[in-house]
Amino acid sequence: MPTLIEKITGSMAIEDANYATVAVDRLLSEAVTMGASDIHLQPVSEGLWIRWRIDGVLQPVGTLPGRIAPNIVARLKVLAGLLTYQTDRPQEGRLRDPARNLDVRISTFPILCGEKVVIRILSTGAASLRNLAQLGFPTHVADQLHAALNATSGAILLVGPAGSGKTTTAYACLRALVQITGGGRSIATLEDPIEVALDGVAQSQVRESAGFDLATGLRSLVRQDPEVIFVGEIRDPQTAVIAFQAAMTGQLMLTTFHAGTAVEAVTRLLDMGIPPYILRGTIRVIVAQRLLRRLCKCAKDSDPNACQADNLKGLANMRAHGTDEESQILTASPGALLNRCREPAGCEACQGTGYLGRCVTAEILTFQDTALAQAILDRADSRRLAELASATGAESISDTAIRLVNEGVTSPAEWFRLFGMDHPQHP
Ligand SMILES: [Zn+2]
Repeated sequence: MPTLIEKITGSMAIEDANYATVAVDRLLSEAVTMGASDIHLQPVSEGLWIRWRIDGVLQPVGTLPGRIAPNIVARLKVLAGLLTYQTDRPQEGRLRDPARNLDVRISTFPILCGEKVVIRILSTGAASLRNLAQLGFPTHVADQLHAALNATSGAILLVGPAGSGKTTTAYACLRALVQITGGGRSIATLEDPIEVALDGVAQSQVRESAGFDLATGLRSLVRQDPEVIFVGEIRDPQTAVIAFQAAMTGQLMLTTFHAGTAVEAVTRLLDMGIPPYILRGTIRVIVAQRLLRRLCKCAKDSDPNACQADNLKGLANMRAHGTDEESQILTASPGALLNRCREPAGCEACQGTGYLGRCVTAEILTFQDTALAQAILDRADSRRLAELASATGAESISDTAIRLVNEGVTSPAEWFRLFGMDHPQHP
């Protein structure tokens, strides 16, 4: 079987005039076929080192000869409409090829040995077109989220780190909103960038260089008589304040936010200057999510205690100075959480990784519980909020992931990868 790099270079000689054009074309096609979300091309002393991210994990592809590296980078810059002669400062561009259902963002960054290029593959169809039911959320999360979408005002927050699938969830929510209302509600978005085009939604792309940033755009958008507003991501206090004002004044506001857990989102918004009574009064639900790699059918059963002990050993090595609560619980009773262990093996179908596709773990927070609502008004810290959320009996994002391990859907190593190193409740 040809290696990945052989598939990309084929039988071409480096002197071939079309080398860069053909290699870039094959690299993009191969990445889409493999389901990669990002491609990294990094000049190193041996050549141009290529890696791609599949199912959230960066994996090596191979190295192209150093002589050809500048041509490959130049070809990508041409495709993205960037200045090829400008090699000493970062640039960003986009390439759309509807014929191949390809939409990528290309960013270049000058480093020691040349320019590093990162290609983000925005939409290759399948993943971004899922509806809510296809996302695989736990039933109670899906039901409460769906109920919140029927509200006519307030805020729905989708939170998680980068690459946690929150944007895919946001698009599924917008699609559900169009469906629920049959086009009867005015839905508008402010995005950076627009990742998927949606029928029945007025989507806007912010352009900071033209003075059209999220905060300015939001101020104008509320005068467009919207009933539902989707703000791609709240990144700064200014945008947060305007977005929550909209949520208070008769619009349903949907947004994504960078936070590890639902309670962390609350404390971060408080830190951004949103008054607690506004959070208490506007937030319908906060959904926090992460993606775990799904075990391939080649996975093998092994002893849960031995398996957990191995992972704990690795965890202890990585966290020499840590005093994390979760680690203490695990160390005290290693068998307490896991009662089943399936581990990755590797076969042709999964390219030897042992994993194929991903599954979602999630938690949902509402403020219907009066103790929790009062704690927010009292600006309680995230630890206290997490205790109160847990006291309501709600399954946490980490609990749901443990359940997926015990169901054999994913491996203990995946749980440790996401929750072992820095527990999201105590970042
Ligand atoms: Zn396999």
